[in-house]
Amino acid sequence: MQIVSTITAMQRLAKKWQRTGTRIGFVPTMGYLHAGHLSLVKRARQVVGKSGKVVVSIYVNPTQFGPKEDLAKYPRDLKRDLKSLCEMGVDVVFTPNDAEMYPGKTGSGFSTYVVEEKLSRPMEGASRPTHFRGVTTVVTKLFNIVLPDVAVFGQKDFQQAAVIQRMVADLNFPLQIIVAPTLRERDGLAMSSRNKYLDAEQRAQAVILFHALQAAQAAVKKKSISAARLKADLKEFITAAPLARLDYVEFFDPETLQPVAQVKRGTQMALAVFFGKTRLIDNARL
Ligand code: AMP
Repeated sequence: MQIVSTITAMQRLAKKWQRTGTRIGFVPTMGYLHAGHLSLVKRARQVVGKSGKVVVSIYVNPTQFGPKEDLAKYPRDLKRDLKSLCEMGVDVVFTPNDAEMYPGKTGSGFSTYVVEEKLSRPMEGASRPTHFRGVTTVVTKLFNIVLPDVAVFGQKDFQQAAVIQRMVADLNFPLQIIVAPTLRERDGLAMSSRNKYLDAEQRAQAVILFHALQAAQAAVKKKSISAARLKADLKEFITAAPLARLDYVEFFDPETLQPVAQVKRGTQMALAVFFGKTRLIDNARL
């Protein structure tokens, strides 16, 4: 497994592969890898096959964090990540630093951003106003550096995947996006690098996100229900976990991400819940 930290070296490798018709599968991550990330790597390998190349990036992208968010304390363990990726048979890990990605003193040599203007507005976009601008910008940069034929993203970040799919279609990136299912802990909590922040009590109560999704699934199994009514019920349900503070729960069309008035089977649900300073998200197609 090769570890590459400069953009020119990564592009040189990718162009060499392109010239020989070698397929490139790409999984962008912020590191502190768990089984959810590794399932995306497995998927990338399945798609490009043995003769293809799998590239994983590990980069905690500062432009997608708000000023009051957890950039400085975001969990990192590069040594452990590299070991896991090596065991998975990954070909290249791309690990640039901030000076490489955003040149100049604290990024002063960088001034071009990519902004999706519709799907990025509600939910995560409303709670974290500069988040998706950072995501679409860094993903564009990574696509231009790794030159993938296929890139794999997680359903765990449903809105992110939707925004990136839209960006790829709108800006004609010559690559395919695959969205892979959410991996969960035994009790149903979606795996996330941020779960590490939770203390024992918060961790025990964090399963409320999954239980809320299940409660909504059950509510719409036989009949549709008004979104306002279901939101109110779920708000009560979630705040029954004393350490939980609901940020949002939304019901929307999975294609347009527009809110729906009536929730039924096939409606997409997403929610964000704080435990202390830790913000967890989850979603499901009902
Ligand atoms: P992150 O390191 O949090 O930026 O995530 C990198 C990629 O892994 C994103 O495409 C996420 O959607 C995906 N991912 C995160 N958690 C999970 C999970 N529990 N199951 C599957 N994919 C995930």
